[in-house]
Amino acid sequence: MILFTDHRTICATCGTQYPSDVALPELCPICDDERQYIGDNGQTWTSLATLAKDRAIRFSQVSDRLYDLRITPAFAIGQRAFLILSESGNVLWDCLPFLDEPTIAFIRSLGGLKAIAISHPHYYSLMAEWARVFECPVYIHQSDAVWVQNHTSAIAFWSGERKSLWDGMEIINTGGHFPGSCVLLQPDSSGQTNLLTGDTIYVARSRRLVTFMYSYPNLIPLPKKAIEQIRDRMAGVSFDRIYGAFEGMVIAENGRSVFDASVQRYLSIFE
Ligand SMILES: [Zn+2]
Ligand SMILES: [Zn+2]
Repeated sequence: MILFTDHRTICATCGTQYPSDVALPELCPICDDERQYIGDNGQTWTSLATLAKDRAIRFSQVSDRLYDLRITPAFAIGQRAFLILSESGNVLWDCLPFLDEPTIAFIRSLGGLKAIAISHPHYYSLMAEWARVFECPVYIHQSDAVWVQNHTSAIAFWSGERKSLWDGMEIINTGGHFPGSCVLLQPDSSGQTNLLTGDTIYVARSRRLVTFMYSYPNLIPLPKKAIEQIRDRMAGVSFDRIYGAFEGMVIAENGRSVFDASVQRYLSIFE
């Protein structure tokens, strides 16, 4: 297994990895999009070898079947990914722009990965590398296929509004932030249901609300019809806790009522 290549093919601002056998774009299309930004020093690239000098991945267990994984010190967007432990196979929800041997060993000690599922293009990061190492598919919604930069046979595009996995897990395409933006439902062993949202459903600082934005760094809201679509795609879905993409983003109880109140709050702006 060759890790820590010195190919400088990772965008230093968003963490997306590009293929090493074709010329890099002048600007990373993910960052050049209205929803992201080019870094203050212009387009810069880094490599796994450079990151490996001072980065590691920290795990914290947030429930008996759920770990959050973060790069420390933080790199690029700074999102977390989740390792979901499940009887019929573990799932990585979202992905990180780094991977090292201790992380591989830790995940393997818990049974490896049966699949990776990603909420939206900002977290595609090193998905090709992770999929290669764990020999598993990456589930991405077809609507966002145009944003995939590093194509690999592991990428399994899916279409429609819902994709069932196993052990009661399900991916729901709500759209909003990106047309293919998704969330994942995960039944907990305690009988509760976790909703993992990336930034499809963004946990607000007060933790009394969630929000939905076209761009978070550039503060561009979504139109009314997008909020209505998110509401409609989540209709009838029960969940208790909401876990967002960044450290501390958790709504520990009554997630469904927080979601409903937040949709109402947002839609009231258009009245
Ligand atoms: Zn980028
Ligand atoms: Zn995003």
